Amino acid sequence: MHGPDGKRTVELKTAYHWHCEECGVENFALPRKAELTDDEAEEAYRLYHYLDSYSPLPDDWRQFEIVEIPDVVECDQCYAKFATKDEREGA
Ligand SMILES: [Zn+2]
Repeated sequence: MHGPDGKRTVELKTAYHWHCEECGVENFALPRKAELTDDEAEEAYRLYHYLDSYSPLPDDWRQFEIVEIPDVVECDQCYAKFATKDEREGA
């Protein structure tokens, strides 16, 4: 794609970054889409948007995606694998 000034543009997406404990290289990991039942997805949507359970949902609410951190990451440099933890959950 090209922007108005002729420069090529890319869409930036959120990723997680982490440092390899083996070789110290910084890596990036993409979030994975959470697999939720319809009920779970609806509950998550309502929580996220501060809707109570009686409020009507917009027609496009299913476009809402919940993403989770990957369970395992692999270093691009040395291929070491690590289990992950979410910094928001604490150590
Ligand atoms: Zn590494």
